[in-house]
Amino acid sequence: MENNTSNFIRPIIKQDLESGKHNQVITRFPPEPNGYLHIGHAKSIIINFDLADEFNGKTNLRFDDTNPLKEDTEFVESIKEDVKWLGYEWDGLFFASDYFEEMYKRAVLLINKGKAYVDDLTADEIREYRGTLTEPGKDSPYRNRSVEENLELFEKMRNGEFGNGEKALRAKIDMSSPNINLRDPVIYRISHTTHHNTGDKWCIYPVYSFAHPIEDALEDVTHSICTLEFEDQRPLYNWVVEETEMESKPQQIEFGRLNVTNTVMSKRKLKQLVEEGFVDGWDDPRMPTISGLRRRGYTPESILAFCRELGVSKGDGTVDSRMLDHFVREDLKLTTPRTMGVIRPLKVVITNYPEAQVEMLDAEINPEVPEMGMRKIPFSREIYIEQEDFMEEPPNKYFRLFPGNEVRLKHAYFIKCEDFIKDDNGNVIEVHCTYDRETKSGSGFTGRKVKGTIHWVEASQALPAEFRLYEPLILDESENEEKEETTFLDNVNPNSIEVLAGFIEPTMKDIQPQDKFQFFRHGYFNVDPKHSTSEKAVFNLIVSLKSSFKK
Ligand code: ATP
Ligand code: MG
Ligand code: MG
Repeated sequence: MENNTSNFIRPIIKQDLESGKHNQVITRFPPEPNGYLHIGHAKSIIINFDLADEFNGKTNLRFDDTNPLKEDTEFVESIKEDVKWLGYEWDGLFFASDYFEEMYKRAVLLINKGKAYVDDLTADEIREYRGTLTEPGKDSPYRNRSVEENLELFEKMRNGEFGNGEKALRAKIDMSSPNINLRDPVIYRISHTTHHNTGDKWCIYPVYSFAHPIEDALEDVTHSICTLEFEDQRPLYNWVVEETEMESKPQQIEFGRLNVTNTVMSKRKLKQLVEEGFVDGWDDPRMPTISGLRRRGYTPESILAFCRELGVSKGDGTVDSRMLDHFVREDLKLTTPRTMGVIRPLKVVITNYPEAQVEMLDAEINPEVPEMGMRKIPFSREIYIEQEDFMEEPPNKYFRLFPGNEVRLKHAYFIKCEDFIKDDNGNVIEVHCTYDRETKSGSGFTGRKVKGTIHWVEASQALPAEFRLYEPLILDESENEEKEETTFLDNVNPNSIEVLAGFIEPTMKDIQPQDKFQFFRHGYFNVDPKHSTSEKAVFNLIVSLKSSFKK
């Protein structure tokens, strides 16, 4: 594992181990199972697991499932799959909901210490009483209930004697604190909702800011790494650890979240794209979810390299999505077979090639990796080329096929355009060429040169294939630039997918879902696991060959 990128958390951990504050580092990745993971979560996974690995520590996968409303087992399974796919193995697998009894006891402890009270104010009233940055908060009229009364009411809350929102348990801290998070935050809410794990056992649920520090402490987490928006909550985190008398004292450390251009990165928004039918599920290849990236064809290695390269800092920043493309190209360059596929086919008849003859030509599988060996591809009188590789009236510097011009067919012969046929609408539907036997690839022919080399697929044995080309799903630079009356949905690119029917080499007849190839002159493609069949492969464009990334 690399450890040469900048990471401000590394020296903190190092110091804590050297000073003897901790003998072993324990981190955790704590997703809420209310959606599929996205590339921002990948960053958090990588930070937590890599730091623990580097110092021989441990990392737990903990489902932060304290909010019953939005959580689901489907999400739990997908999250496990995604973490494993990135290549990580967790030490402990925990559910925050398994700690509900313990959390309840700690809340009772707070009540007994006079540090928590049951409030009858409504959520709106609590918000009103809280004050603002410039104005201190006001005490709730219920703030000074006796310990006995609070204990009794809290038990009744647990026993289901009140309706949703009728009462709440609040920490008794400081209504005039400059940090609004410390103005008696709510720590338990009533919610008569079935929980994906605990069913109907509970009708009161702890809020995140109370539950999270307890979860961390119960697991002896040493460094609780989270994103920057929790910075203001750190005093509350520490208050909970202290006042609930947790033995372990985890330290919360915040880092800048990952944002990527042309992407929305919030489960709420991703869910909306799925539910409103903008995409074909959470794993649509245009989605920034880990499952979407996987289906598109990104490799775990490329995602790891991308996140590691970014390092870990205190600042939020937006990264150009083309940087991820750079890493996947690097990863696939030497590992994928090269092949030929025609995505917008045009028939070519080679008029001087013997009818009914098919010859087999030799082609390297990857010229940069000779060990990958050779393949045999058929060649005959009829082939397909790309429509854009022929022009009736070419512009300057067009070196592909046009009447009278000669080009090289990759791995095969030079062919010269003699004629073409158009349909009634004026579209070219067939090109007639002659070939020169002397020019066979690998024969050492040096008699003359041509400027263009094009790809092709022999027609009689070509396999049908579907090619799906993608553009960014979101047109705006980033979700942060959302304007007032518009929503991010107004920025959804209406042309984010193009589906084309073409042909591939017969060498590809046994390809499997998730196999990756570099199609000559097109780019890297992945065999779609959802829509490919044995009759017809479906390919997702991962990235084109050239980067348009300009620094
Ligand atoms: P979202 O805001 O996208 O819905 P979340 O923060 O609510 O995500 P959680 O399931 O609570 O999602 O997150 C699990 C962990 O992943 C948290 O520690 C969170 O800080 C981290 N995380 C989420 N989004 C990002 C991001 N864009 N960059 C880095 N870490 C992230
Ligand atoms: Mg969340
Ligand atoms: Mg969030």
